[in-house]
Amino acid sequence: MSETMIVCCPCPSCQEGSVGYRLCANRETVVLLCDNCALVWMHPNQVDADHARDPLNPEFARQHPQVGLRSSRWANQTEVNDWGWGVYLLKPGDLLKASDDSSTAPPS
Ligand SMILES: [Zn+2]
Repeated sequence: MSETMIVCCPCPSCQEGSVGYRLCANRETVVLLCDNCALVWMHPNQVDADHARDPLNPEFARQHPQVGLRSSRWANQTEVNDWGWGVYLLKPGDLLKASDDSSTAPPS
């Protein structure tokens, strides 16, 4: 199984790990997970120390039953897109490139 991880940003909590897009056990839900301290964030716009969640906390599991990290894996680009977060994978350079390419892209 591939362990390739799409990195969102450095971890704001432990300062050592990287926060990546994690596909949950239901193969639909995507969350952000630190590969070092294993804290979770629910949205790529809110990856900061205040929004860090401990997935082992029973309260977190109760509030977010769809987040199953057991047998989860790193999400690929398609899965992040399907979850509606594709825009967060784009970097400013990509946006520029996308608009440059739009004139030559076939209509979809
Ligand atoms: Zn961390």
